[in-house]
Amino acid sequence: MARSLVVGAGISGAVLANLIANNLNENVLVIDKRNHIAGNIYDYKDQKTHITVHKYGPHIFHTNNKKVFDFLSEYTKWHYFFLKPKAIMEGNFASIPFNLTTLYDVFSDPMAQKIEENLINTFGYGKKVPILRLREYKEFEFIADYIYEHMFKNYTIKQWGLLPEDIDSSVTERVPVYISHDNRYFQDKYQGIPLDGYSQMIKNMLSHKNIEVRLGVEYKNLNENFDRIFYCGSIDEFFDYKFGYLEYRSLNFDIRTINKEYYQPSAIVNYPNNYDFTRITEHKYFLDEKSEKTIISVEYPAAFEPDKNERFYPISNQKNNALYEKYLNEAKKAKNLYFIGRLGAYKYYNMDLAVEKIFEFFEKELK
Ligand code: UDP
Repeated sequence: MARSLVVGAGISGAVLANLIANNLNENVLVIDKRNHIAGNIYDYKDQKTHITVHKYGPHIFHTNNKKVFDFLSEYTKWHYFFLKPKAIMEGNFASIPFNLTTLYDVFSDPMAQKIEENLINTFGYGKKVPILRLREYKEFEFIADYIYEHMFKNYTIKQWGLLPEDIDSSVTERVPVYISHDNRYFQDKYQGIPLDGYSQMIKNMLSHKNIEVRLGVEYKNLNENFDRIFYCGSIDEFFDYKFGYLEYRSLNFDIRTINKEYYQPSAIVNYPNNYDFTRITEHKYFLDEKSEKTIISVEYPAAFEPDKNERFYPISNQKNNALYEKYLNEAKKAKNLYFIGRLGAYKYYNMDLAVEKIFEFFEKELK
């Protein structure tokens, strides 16, 4: 019986191992250098408060892809949840993404009404306009500058160390200005949080007689032969950084238990303009968990430094993308070696896209 190796027990590795085990009737060994499964979507129940904590930052599942949702639904039930975050702008809790309701959070009613009418007349109700595009309209100079200055500029400097116009435009396009009173962060058809947590969902996916999971194991220290290797880590590390380092942004989390029932009015509050952190997550909101206390994590962006912190966000730019391609060409010389997942593909995938990409990969390469 053929035997594959999957390096990394995050969502991409787990989905692939599951597909191989179920559809190809092969054996799969899944290893992870961390001592837990689920990669950066790992969550755990705090022993004292019983609140589920997203250790590596907030994860809200959302997709329009029914196939992805149905697949994951085989391994979890869902707590239906819409993320409605706030940002502190000029001292007010304002709805984000910046939308028509936000106008009334930050301006007087007559002023908000005037801007609202102009936006609807130009773009149409329900349209999404990336901030950098809105800035190109002379007639929207005031509102575009306001949103840019109060929501995007300093947040992006903290998060990426760069101005919004100096990062890949797809990043700020994730949070377009929304010509709507819909206050949700996402408009996808399917949204929610796994009822028993992400870690349990991944555990269920990996529970198969053909799948073995070994934790705390470095790929480099594994001395076994495999028919195929699927590597979900960073491609530069695999090749010992021989062409140079791929850049990533990292995050540090200050996770604190607070002695009151609620800390803030929503699961996530962004602080674009104050402090060194970008946002605070209050974890009990995700599953509507009840406790006299609450747990928050304060999120501090940082540069990624190998062996010091974790990789979170690939930094897509010409230099990094060219370096990635160079490594990928090297990888193509090897047979039966594949780089997959957010790190392996060096792409800012959401969870649903990570799953979709594994489906595509499986169909194309393994079926
Ligand atoms: N962003 C911002 N201000 C905000 C929220 C987002 O400037 O209040 C920008 C920032 O550049 C960020 C990007 O939009 O990196 C994408 O935000 P998202 O919330 O999708 O990031 P994630 O949750 O993946 O960290």
